[in-house]
Amino acid sequence: ADHSFEYPKHPNFMKWSVHYPGVLEDESCAKKVEFLDVGCGYGGLLVTLSPMFPENLILGLEIRVKVSDYVVDRIKALRSQNPGEYQNIACLRTNAMKYLPNYFKKGQLKKIFFLYPDPHFKKAKHKWRVINQCLLAEYAYVLGINGIVYTITDVKDLHDWMVKHFTEHPLFERLTSEDLDTDIIIEKLYASSEEGQKVSRNNGDKFLAVFRRIEDPYVN
Ligand code: SAM
Repeated sequence: ADHSFEYPKHPNFMKWSVHYPGVLEDESCAKKVEFLDVGCGYGGLLVTLSPMFPENLILGLEIRVKVSDYVVDRIKALRSQNPGEYQNIACLRTNAMKYLPNYFKKGQLKKIFFLYPDPHFKKAKHKWRVINQCLLAEYAYVLGINGIVYTITDVKDLHDWMVKHFTEHPLFERLTSEDLDTDIIIEKLYASSEEGQKVSRNNGDKFLAVFRRIEDPYVN
């Protein structure tokens, strides 16, 4: 149940140096988390992105305690087997639908990933979906201007739902396939995570959509 979640009352109270000890000597360090993998599962994307973006702190959020424990252990093992590497990735157990503003300041994030979210796509569960209209406002809040949201799913209805809601939202625009051509992350979205590999094994379809956080058209 949710009361078992520990979370900071405000981003200022978060002790990030515990999670990134090789990068952050203490809390006075200015470096902050910039990439967020929501529902990171077993952490495949984190491990892939780590060497690609050595200068960025990357965080996975996972609600299932056993799965997040697994990812924490996985990162610990990678760090000890590869001294100096994998220092920029970490995983927290939390409910990403409830506590994002407790962890991140306005405009802090550069990229948010939703890889194969919500497999149980049912009409009755709308409000529980990781992508819904209220949450889009929250994602827009923690993302900086020009920040990118990556989504990929094997569920066509969910893809259509995400495209519809992000496209309709005034603070996001969908990127074109030309924009995506120059982004080295795109190809990694298909099979770097465990769920993506499972979909590949089952010859499932994969639907990708990427959005940019744009400036508020009503400001100025
Ligand atoms: N992204 C991973 C991948 O591609 O392998 C995992 C995909 S899995 C189908 C969806 C994951 O999201 C599950 O591990 C689930 O526990 C997690 N999840 C669902 N709701 C969540 C929430 N509100 N906060 C954090 N994680 C959540």
